[in-house]
Amino acid sequence: MVKLENMKNISLSDSVINLDHGDPTAYEEYWRKIGDRCTVTIRGCDLMSYFSDVNNMCWFLEPELAEAIKELHDAVGNAATEDRYIVVGTGSPQLCQAAVHALSSLAGTQPVSVVAAAPYYSTYVEETTYVRSGMYKWEGDAWGFDKKGPYIELVTSPNNPDGTIRETVVNRPDDDEGKVIHDFAYYWPHYTPITRRQDHDIMLFTFSKITGHAGSRIGWALVKDKKVAKKMVEYIIVNSIGVSKESQTRTAKILKVLKETCKSETENFFEYGHEMMKNRWEKLRGVVKESDVFSLPKYPEAYCYFFGKTLGSYPAFAWLGTKEETDLVNELRRHKVMSRAGERCGSDKKHVRVSMLSREDVFNVFLERLANMKLIKSIDL
Ligand code: PMP
Repeated sequence: MVKLENMKNISLSDSVINLDHGDPTAYEEYWRKIGDRCTVTIRGCDLMSYFSDVNNMCWFLEPELAEAIKELHDAVGNAATEDRYIVVGTGSPQLCQAAVHALSSLAGTQPVSVVAAAPYYSTYVEETTYVRSGMYKWEGDAWGFDKKGPYIELVTSPNNPDGTIRETVVNRPDDDEGKVIHDFAYYWPHYTPITRRQDHDIMLFTFSKITGHAGSRIGWALVKDKKVAKKMVEYIIVNSIGVSKESQTRTAKILKVLKETCKSETENFFEYGHEMMKNRWEKLRGVVKESDVFSLPKYPEAYCYFFGKTLGSYPAFAWLGTKEETDLVNELRRHKVMSRAGERCGSDKKHVRVSMLSREDVFNVFLERLANMKLIKSIDL
């Protein structure tokens, strides 16, 4: 029997829990302990100008944030920052849209096809269809995509929703018309072993999934090609004339503390996050094993250069499947658990995406409801 701890929160016992969004509140406790070291004071007269650095092509990027980003990637070893432009965005979806816009506007013919291998991050669909641009067209699943002409493949690794390590799947190595945007939102040591220093043309990162500060809405792109970076900057200027300086200042401060503590024995955030995720995954796997109804993907172990040892993967989302012929999102909803339907991710009704980043009490209620689902189902039959 799986032991469910911390089940004291009576007020949660009957309410609907929302694990559809990946709201990363799981990390609040760590930052509470860090206390005032991340506190930022901003006076009324501070940060008033639109401009951050007129000598930078991305003139709305705060130099201290650029520095903090480079130092963090250097310390973690997950991505190359040299000889690249940093473009800051209001969350990484703005940057993804800016990159799709930039690559499409530089393509010979339009609309440019945009694809991602299923199961994919469902927000890509909205990002590429919502404004009904004539410059690009969402073409869905990249597996089996063989349309002629320019295309953009969105590669998410580790993947949202299923946590797998991904490479491109549209196999046209010599095709100049094929472009790739790598979304590395989860390529951080608490989720997955850092096996290499990524070195791609366009790499997207988001503050929210590293530390949990989703509310700051800060993302960044590391871009090799100056023309692409310039077009992305133009897009952000048209879209929001830059990015909040208050948010950038706070992000810079927190990333700096993150970097300073990331080799510490007692305060290493990645160690903390890794232990928490590992613990949650072990509990979830325990419930799934006992249920006989559900399934979860298995992940291979790999040597992590950041931690200096071989480790497993503990993704930010669980890609929960069922062996029954059932609409899993509805089944979970019946048990007051909101999740993201597999169909929205280009998959099927038998899969859902469940956030692993909720607060501890919510996560434990989820486990309890999942453990009881088999029971309710067998009573139903
Ligand atoms: N990319 C992926 C793969 C994500 O899962 C998310 C968050 N769910 C984002 C980008 C965007 O994160 P944010 O909006 O917090 O920057």
